[in-house]
Amino acid sequence: MKKIVIATSNNKKLKEIEFLLSDIEIEIIPQSDLGVESCEEPFNTFIENALVKARFASKKTNLPAIADDSGLCVESLNGQPGVLSARFAGEKRSDEDNNDKLLNNLKEKKNRRAHYYCAIVFLRNFEDPQPIITEGIWQGEILKTRKGNNGFGYDPIFMDYKTDLSAAELPTKLKNRISHRAQALQKLKQKLKILL
Ligand code: IMP
Repeated sequence: MKKIVIATSNNKKLKEIEFLLSDIEIEIIPQSDLGVESCEEPFNTFIENALVKARFASKKTNLPAIADDSGLCVESLNGQPGVLSARFAGEKRSDEDNNDKLLNNLKEKKNRRAHYYCAIVFLRNFEDPQPIITEGIWQGEILKTRKGNNGFGYDPIFMDYKTDLSAAELPTKLKNRISHRAQALQKLKQKLKILL
């Protein structure tokens, strides 16, 4: 079975990725199992950050690699928090702090449209000149107060347009079917089926 290293140490993401790619003949190995540490994500775009993570993991392990990068983009804030989603309120932030900062920044704004975005990169090897890149976008709006207890990150303040529920009110199974990450992974799966 083909081994692929996955450039994440986030257990929730790992489970999601394993589940969504479970019907193709690959063995997914988290980079931490191979002694690979996280690398810097210095770029202004999700795609560049996913690419640098995949290249780093592939170079360290000599295996094909998958990496993802994701975040929340708010229309009236020119796409912020964007690639800084995890550390919007600073390096020592919590999800609570990030949500508070976003709600505060949107106090005076009428336009609360936002989307979650996910980029996934697959590299055959660390020098691959032709990475496979897929994207997923989940459209919604930022609520004025938190709703729901599921999920993580900005989920309590992100309202899904299709169901009118916050992402934290959606059952996990449903979120994992419609989310930005699920969409990007579905597209990756179609491409890997042809490639592998
Ligand atoms: P990363 O891809 O692990 O770097 O995630 C970036 C950050 O974006 C997370 O720490 C969250 O703040 C936010 N984010 C990405 N995906 C989601 C999601 O599905 N729900 C809530 N927040 C998310």
